[in-house]
Amino acid sequence: MSTKHIIKHVRGFLKPFRVTDGKGFRLKDFDPGETLDLDSEDKPRAKEALAFGIEALAELQDKLYAQDRWAVLLVFQAMDAAGKDGTIKHVMSGVNPQGCQVDSFKAPSAEDLDHDFLWRSAKSIPKRGHIGIFNRSYYEETLVVRVHRELFERQKLPPELVTKHIWKERFQDIRNFERYLTRNGVVIRKFFLNVSKEEQKKRFLERLENAEKNWKFSANDINERAFWDDYMTAYEDMIRHTASREAPWYVVPADNKWFTRIVVAAAVIETLDALNLRYPTVSEEKLKDLAAAKQMLIGEESSRHQDRAHAS
Ligand code: ATP
Ligand code: MG
Repeated sequence: MSTKHIIKHVRGFLKPFRVTDGKGFRLKDFDPGETLDLDSEDKPRAKEALAFGIEALAELQDKLYAQDRWAVLLVFQAMDAAGKDGTIKHVMSGVNPQGCQVDSFKAPSAEDLDHDFLWRSAKSIPKRGHIGIFNRSYYEETLVVRVHRELFERQKLPPELVTKHIWKERFQDIRNFERYLTRNGVVIRKFFLNVSKEEQKKRFLERLENAEKNWKFSANDINERAFWDDYMTAYEDMIRHTASREAPWYVVPADNKWFTRIVVAAAVIETLDALNLRYPTVSEEKLKDLAAAKQMLIGEESSRHQDRAHAS
C-alpha cells in the first residue's frame, strides 16, 4: 500500500474523533468502546494497517527532519491505564529517534512551582524538524490541579490574582500559548485517550495479577479513580475551551488498544501529510560540487587500481 493510498483512507476515518470547535462538546457523545465498522475479527487487518501506517510515518518524518521548518507537538492526556505509554511506543516505533523526543510531565518539582505554569512546558517545545511528544502536559493544570484544589494552593500565586475566573483564565492562556506556537511553525495535535471506568478496572486488576505488570500499578491510581466523575467534568470543560482548528483535540476511543493505535497513527500521518513536506532542493552550485565530489571519489578508485597494477 502506498503512502498516498493510506492518506486517502485516513481522512474520513478520523472525522468522528476530531474536535476543532468545543462549543456544545459533550463527552457522553463519545463511546470509549467505538471501533466503527471494525470488530475484533478485524484485529489482524488493523494491525497490518498500523504496520503500513508506521512505514508511511517514518517516510514523512524523514522529510520533516530534512526540511527543518516545521515542528510537531503531540499532546497525550488520559486517565491512568488508558494506554498512553503503549500508544506512544507503538505509533512512534518506526520513526528515527534522532528526530523525536518524549517528555513525561509528572508532579511538578519545587523549581517548577517557583515559576509560571507554562514554564516547564515551554522548555520542552520540540525544535524545527522534530516531533515532540508530551506524555501528560500543561493540561494537567486544568485537570489534576482542578480536581485537587490543594495542588493549586502549592503554586503560591499571589492571592489577589486568584478569582473565580481562574480556570477560564488558564484556558485562555493555554489557547494563546498554542496560537503563539502555531504561528511559529509548531503544529499541535492533542489526544484524549477516552477509556471507560469499567475497562480501567479490568486493566488495574491485570496489573495487580500479572507480576510483569505490577510495576505499573501505584496505590495512588486507586485514589484517583475515586474522583472519576470530577475528572470527566474537567476533561469535558478542557476540550470545550481549548479545541480549535489549529490545535484540535482527538477524542480517541481507548477500550480497545488496537483501535486506539490506528486512530492516533492516522491522525499523525494526516497532520504530517498536510504540511506538504519536501526534501530540500539543491542549488545549481551545490549540484556542481556534488558532481566534482563524485569524480574525485571515482578517480580515487581508478588510481588505486593503477597503483595495484604497477606494483604487480
Ligand atoms: P502515568 O501516570 O502518566 O502513566 P507514571 O505513573 O509513571 O505516569 P506518576 O508518578 O503517576 O507517573 O506521575 C503522573 C502524575 O503526575 C499524574 O497523577 C499527574 O496527575 C501528575 N501531574 C502531572 N502534571 C501535574 C501538575 N502540573 N500538577 C500536579 N500534578 C501533576
Ligand atoms: Mg501514574
